[in-house]
Amino acid sequence: MQNTAAIRPCQYKTGKTLGSGTYAVVREATHIETEQKYACKIINKQFIEGREYLVRNEIAVLQRISSRHPNIVTLHDYFETHRNLYLCFDLCTGGELFHRICSKGNYYEADAAALVRTILAAVKYIHDCGIVHRDLKPENLLFQTEADDANIMIADFGLSRIMDEERMTLLTGVCGTAGYMAPEVFRDAGHGKPVDVWAMGVITYFLLAGYTPFDRDTPEAETAAIVAGDVKFEPAEFWANVSPTAREFVQACLTVDPAARPTAAEALQHRWLTAATPHFVPDP
Ligand code: ADP
Ligand code: MG
Repeated sequence: MQNTAAIRPCQYKTGKTLGSGTYAVVREATHIETEQKYACKIINKQFIEGREYLVRNEIAVLQRISSRHPNIVTLHDYFETHRNLYLCFDLCTGGELFHRICSKGNYYEADAAALVRTILAAVKYIHDCGIVHRDLKPENLLFQTEADDANIMIADFGLSRIMDEERMTLLTGVCGTAGYMAPEVFRDAGHGKPVDVWAMGVITYFLLAGYTPFDRDTPEAETAAIVAGDVKFEPAEFWANVSPTAREFVQACLTVDPAARPTAAEALQHRWLTAATPHFVPDP
C-alpha cells in the first residue's frame, strides 16, 4: 500500500451501497483483475475541504495497525480521483452489531460476554499501539459474515487520533456520538484511552438490555446523566435474567472518573469475562 494517495486508473467496479456516515459513503467494490470484493469508503473531497486532516489521520491510524489484527478491518488499498478519495477495506457482509441487537432485542448473557471479550481484546490491542478509537459504538462494529457466530471487527477510525505518548497524554475537543461519549469529553478535561472503555460499558449495557443507558428526553438531560454517571438497571424486567457480575462489569466501565476507570487490560481481567460461563445468580 502506498503512503500517499496515487491518482491511477480505476481497478475496481463499484456495487451496492453498504452504509454511509458523516463524510463518506461505503460501497461494495470488486477488484477487476482478482475479482476480490472489498468495502470501499468513498469520500467526496468537496465535503472534507479544510478537514482533509481527518482522512489523513484515519489513513495514518490504519497504516499503523495494519499488522492485521483479526478483529480490526484491514485497509487494503488507498487511492484518489480528482473528485473522491477511496479506501478499500475487508468486506464485512454480516452487517452492523447495531442491527443484530435491534433484530434480536438483546443478547444472551454468555453470547454478550464472548462478544465483549473479543471487542475489548481488540481495543486493548489498539491502546497498546498508542491509539484511541474514540467512536466505539454498535454502528462501527461489523460482522465479517452473516453467520450467527461470525467474527466481529472494529471499523471507522475516522475520529481516532494517534497518541504521541511522549508529548501528549490527553486529547481535547468534542467529537464522537453523544450516547457513547464519556463524561470527561463533556467536561472538556481531555480524553484518552479511558473513553473507549466507557463506550464498551455503554455497548455492553445495550447488548444485555436492548437499549442504551443514557437515553433521556432531551440532549441536555442525556449529557447531565452521562456526566453524573447516572446508570440504572431498570426497568427490572429487562435485567431479571442478567447476573450481578455482568452489571458490576458495566458499572466498572461506566466509572465517571477516567483515572479510576479500569483500563482495557484490567476490564479484560474482570470475572465476568474470565469466567468460562457467566456467574448467573437470579435476583431474589
Ligand atoms: P463514517 O465515518 O461515515 O461513520 P464508517 O466507516 O463507519 O463511516 O462507515 C459507514 C457505514 O458503512 C458503517 O456503519 C457500515 O454500515 C458500512 N461499512 C463500513 N465499513 C464497512 C466494511 N468494511 N464492510 C461492510 N460495511 C461497511
Ligand atoms: Mg461510522
